[in-house]
Amino acid sequence: MNHKIINYLYILILVSMGACTSEKINYVEDSSFAEICKNLHTNKAFPLSDTSDDWFQVYESYEGVYSIVEPYQFQMSISHLIIGTDKALLFDTGMGILPIKPIVERITNLPITVLNSHTHFDHVGGNAEFSEILAIDSLYTKSNMQGFKHEEVAGDVALEAFCGEAPIGLNTDTYHTRSWSANEYVSDGQKIDLGGRILEVMHVPGHTPDAVALLDAKNGLLFTGDTFYDDNLWLFSPETNLDDYSNTIDRLVEVENKIQYLFGAHTTARVDAGRLALVKTSLQKLRSGSTKPVKEIGERQIYQIDGINFVTSKAALEGKQIDITKGASGL
Ligand SMILES: [Zn+2]
Repeated sequence: MNHKIINYLYILILVSMGACTSEKINYVEDSSFAEICKNLHTNKAFPLSDTSDDWFQVYESYEGVYSIVEPYQFQMSISHLIIGTDKALLFDTGMGILPIKPIVERITNLPITVLNSHTHFDHVGGNAEFSEILAIDSLYTKSNMQGFKHEEVAGDVALEAFCGEAPIGLNTDTYHTRSWSANEYVSDGQKIDLGGRILEVMHVPGHTPDAVALLDAKNGLLFTGDTFYDDNLWLFSPETNLDDYSNTIDRLVEVENKIQYLFGAHTTARVDAGRLALVKTSLQKLRSGSTKPVKEIGERQIYQIDGINFVTSKAALEGKQIDITKGASGL
C-alpha cells in the first residue's frame, strides 16, 4: 500500500514551500494532477471493458481475469476478478472511495467470493459490500476488520490525491473504510475451485503478516498483491518484516519459473514473469547495506537497485517491527 505516497508527500512539501505565492501553488497543483493523471493510460495495452465507468477502469488482462483499476487516485489500486464456471473470486476490493460491487455485478452474474491480498486499507475498502469473504486467520487481519478511521486515511482523499476533482458521491470529510468480517479462514496450500479454474492460496508474509498470493497453475498466472507490483515497492510500513519478505520472494521465484504472468495490486494490471527474480537480487543488495538511498524524505528511504525501486526505512532494514497483533499502522 501507499507505494506512491512518496510522490504525494513530495508534492505536499512543494505545496508548503510554495505557499507564499498563489502562482507557485497553482503550478504545483497542476503538476501533481498531471503526475497522477499520467496513470490513466498505463494499462492501454489491455482491452478496456465496457463495464468501466467514470471511476473504475476494467481491463480484461487475461481470459477470465478482469483487473479493476482505480486510476484517478494516486494509489492506483487494482482488484482482480478471477472467473470460473461456477463462481468468481474478487482478489481485493479497492479503496472503498466508490462502491465496487456494481462494477463486479456488471462483469459477472456468478456468486462472488472475496479474498484480500492483504488487509491494508487500500485493498479492503469495498469488503463491507460483500457477504462471502475469506481471510487469513491472524490477529493482524482481525484487527484490520474493524475498518480504518477517517484520520488514518484522510490523506488519501485530499485534493492532491486525485487526478482532477474528488469523485461525485465521495464525502472527503468523512471517508473511512467500513468494518467487515470473514465467513471462512484460509491457509497456505488451500485450493479454491471456481469451476474449471483452481486457485492455490499461498500465504506470503512480509509486506504484511497476512499477505496472500494466488496461483492459477493451469494458466500460469500468479497474483502477487503488494508483494510485487510494477512500481516502487513499499516496504516502509512498521508491520513489514524484511526477513519474512525475503523468504517469500525466494519462494515465489521458484514458482515464477513455471508461470507466464504476474498480476500486482497497483498500477499495471499484468506483467511478464521474470520480475520476481530481479526483486530477489535487488533485495539482497538492499539488505547487504552495499547501496545508498537515492533520496530520503523524512524516514522514507528510496532505493533504486538494478531496475527495482524500494521505499523503505532504516527501522525496517534493522528489523524493527510494531506489535502486529494490533493491526495495520495506517502507513
Ligand atoms: Zn499494502
